[in-house]
Amino acid sequence: MDYDERRERLAERLRYELNLSQRVYNAMKNVPRHIFVPERYKIEAYSDTPLPIGFGQTISAPHMVAIMCELLDLREGDKVLEVGTGCGYHAAVVAELVGKSGRVISVEYIPELAEMAKANLSALGYDNVYVVVGDGSKGYPPEAPYDKIYVTASAPDVPQPLVEQLKPGGRMVIPVGEHAQWLIILEKDKKGNIRKKNWGSVRFVPLRGEYGFKSVRY
Ligand code: SAM
Repeated sequence: MDYDERRERLAERLRYELNLSQRVYNAMKNVPRHIFVPERYKIEAYSDTPLPIGFGQTISAPHMVAIMCELLDLREGDKVLEVGTGCGYHAAVVAELVGKSGRVISVEYIPELAEMAKANLSALGYDNVYVVVGDGSKGYPPEAPYDKIYVTASAPDVPQPLVEQLKPGGRMVIPVGEHAQWLIILEKDKKGNIRKKNWGSVRFVPLRGEYGFKSVRY
């Protein structure tokens, strides 16, 4: 079976198991995950599991990417901040959902991974994704405010700069916690009031940086 067939099968399975919307299903079907995976793991690219990408980091499992996209309710034209680019896969799926009129600004802590992500994204023609090297726990003020924000590493708590950089009416999805982790959906209403919901238990690598886990080192 070739990559295209495997990807289609995985997207079908996720659609069935997660009751995916047509838009998220299409995005999962369109993005070639094997391009983002190191050579030795390409054979597993369409298994629904995280895989190593080097530097102690992982590419997220496809079901987690699909769930976070559904929870964010991504629309054409949205300006989105991603914290934790990794190899760029999740950003590519989000880029499909926000379309050419939308933008994804993605901050990655590890310069080598940011370079890898840039190469992967540009090879596939995702020119609506901007990868920045830095501490995404502080957000990315030059492009703020954002319609949607999501974080792909678990934080001790929701970083206040991210709350401030979210537009009124915006939504954030972020894993919080160290050993036990919970996926939090944070909504900011038009008056700026914050409401948080707990989606459930998840497993992510720890967030570094100023609002991350200071004890964790590379
Ligand atoms: N988005 C990725 C994907 O496409 O599968 C998954 C990324 S991986 C699970 C989490 C990433 O967050 C790692 O690449 C890690 O280096 C990055 N990270 C951790 N702390 C960070 C911080 N403070 N700022 C930016 N990136 C951070």
